[in-house]
Amino acid sequence: MRGTRVLVLNTGSSSVKYQLLDMADGSRPAAGLVERIGERTSYLRHAPAGGPRREREEPVPDHQAALKAVADELARDGLGLDSPELAAIGHRVVHGGRRFTEPTVIDDAVLAEIERLVPVAPLHNPANLAGIRTAMALAPHLPQVAVFDTAFHTTMPEYAARYAIDTAVADAHRVRRYGFHGTSHAYVSRRTAELLGRDPSEVNVIVLHLGNGSSASAVRGGRCVDTSMGLTPLEGLVMGTRSGDIDPAVVFHLARVAGMSVDEIDVLLNKRSGLLGLCGDNDMREVLRRMAGEGPDAESARLAFDVYVHRLKKYIGAYCAVLGRVDAVAFTAGVGENAAPVRQAAVDGLEGLGLAVDAELNAARGGGPRLVSPPTARVAVAVVPTDEELEIAGQTYALVGDGTAGRK
Ligand code: ADP
Repeated sequence: MRGTRVLVLNTGSSSVKYQLLDMADGSRPAAGLVERIGERTSYLRHAPAGGPRREREEPVPDHQAALKAVADELARDGLGLDSPELAAIGHRVVHGGRRFTEPTVIDDAVLAEIERLVPVAPLHNPANLAGIRTAMALAPHLPQVAVFDTAFHTTMPEYAARYAIDTAVADAHRVRRYGFHGTSHAYVSRRTAELLGRDPSEVNVIVLHLGNGSSASAVRGGRCVDTSMGLTPLEGLVMGTRSGDIDPAVVFHLARVAGMSVDEIDVLLNKRSGLLGLCGDNDMREVLRRMAGEGPDAESARLAFDVYVHRLKKYIGAYCAVLGRVDAVAFTAGVGENAAPVRQAAVDGLEGLGLAVDAELNAARGGGPRLVSPPTARVAVAVVPTDEELEIAGQTYALVGDGTAGRK
């Protein structure tokens, strides 16, 4: 009989994050990460449940070595890839294009398709592929499942996914809105319906995933109908280091007038913009701290905050229009879950749309999903912590588990 545990792997360009989840009892026997892969010294951290965590720095040249180190750490705690409790490995894959609308058991054809999508996800898909290939070599006996960041958004109607450009060019180069953070939007929209005590199929939710990267989605009856990220994760909200929406002609202008290359503009908009570009700090905690002070430092932080919130508000308004009727607005991820001033400012003045937060509820800290709107509010405003690992493990297990453990 197969086990009830799923190892979730999130392989980025220079890092691997992992969690081992048990779908039978909801426990997490281990978690950890390897960072700075390929640099002179990499950082490894492994945290077994109930035991002391182990950390060290040593060179980890590539993803293969990183995953081997992860497998060794798990084995030291008796949780190795050959343990009978392990049912499958679930991989986060950033770009699944239009084809992957569901979690998918990985075989050669699936690998080839993920590879074919590298041109639209040049930073992410190669790292994801390296992680999958290594995991398949280390654990050929286990089913491996790809859970795509784009999958939840494949239900968007064509008019929301299309950019208004020449169709032949768009089709030839697969230029359209795909959206990302889909695993989080799926999980959070479902949990928000639960919080309201209603079935997801009856509820319309605006999900605001505000982390280092940020995205908004409009979810009607459990299905995504619009999202703010596009062909790449650059579009939409103001983020830690990404500009979000911008006049596309800014790119031509910088190329023609400032003589910048495409690669330089790419770095500018993805890595040196957003909060960082506006005020020199990409961490919302730091922005909020500076805003409390005085002088130019506080002023630039305040402007960055205002630009961030203004964009957020525009998306809330837009998605109210897209959905027609909104039951809840859910804030999630690092900023959304922790930054009460962002939540307050984002709905400030939107009473006309039925939106408000209760200052006391909003300021209170709490672990689980909770409402922060006044009980009389027409639209519920909620803080719903995201849990992408649990969602990936749940989707993986639902696909390949033996059915003896329920989805948590
Ligand atoms: P990622 O997108 O990397 O998964 P997270 O969802 O963990 O990121 O969000 C990270 C961001 O959350 C940080 O950059 C920081 O700006 C913000 N953040 C975390 N804690 C707080 C807090 N207490 N107050 C305000 N912002 C916070």
